[in-house]
Amino acid sequence: MIKEDNIFEIPTHNPEQTQQFGTEIGKLAQAGDLILLVGNLGAGKTCLTQGIAWGVGFDGYASSPSFVLVKEYPGRLILYHIDLYRLDDIEEISELGIDDYLYGEGICVVEWADKAPDYFPSEHLIISIEHISESERHLRLQGNGPRYTHLTEQLKEKWNLP
Ligand code: ADP
Ligand code: MG
Repeated sequence: MIKEDNIFEIPTHNPEQTQQFGTEIGKLAQAGDLILLVGNLGAGKTCLTQGIAWGVGFDGYASSPSFVLVKEYPGRLILYHIDLYRLDDIEEISELGIDDYLYGEGICVVEWADKAPDYFPSEHLIISIEHISESERHLRLQGNGPRYTHLTEQLKEKWNLP
């Protein structure tokens, strides 16, 4: 099967493995990076975000910021964890004031990004998580733009090494 350079699909077999993969993302993340997460409730978006936060150097715990819109996790850069679960109306998003984060020097991870697909900059890493069984998930990464194609390639290399 021919695969695009900017696409990477992997299974994970338990939450720790999803976190570990997130940690690899976090280690490679750079100032200004945008990571969009898509997947049903319980898919593992927050679990992956936890790993990303550790990879960025945060030593605490991530939880879904479903009641507050944004959580900040300081590491070598600040990770902004944004959750759009409670967003009912796409029009509302421009009133949330998240642009400062999206266009700032931190790293943004957005859960439920598919609630406002056209709102985000066209260059980003998008990760869709699919529930396969109780402990198995399928992650599909797509890097849009040169920066995120590169990031996807780096992750492929790291993850596929023995
Ligand atoms: P979301 O943020 O997408 O709603 P969470 O990350 O909060 O989902 O929850 C995912 C749940 O699925 C957790 O209870 C986690 O323990 C469980 N889980 C089971 N297997 C996996 C896996 N392979 N990857 C991630 N989470 C998993
Ligand atoms: Mg969540």
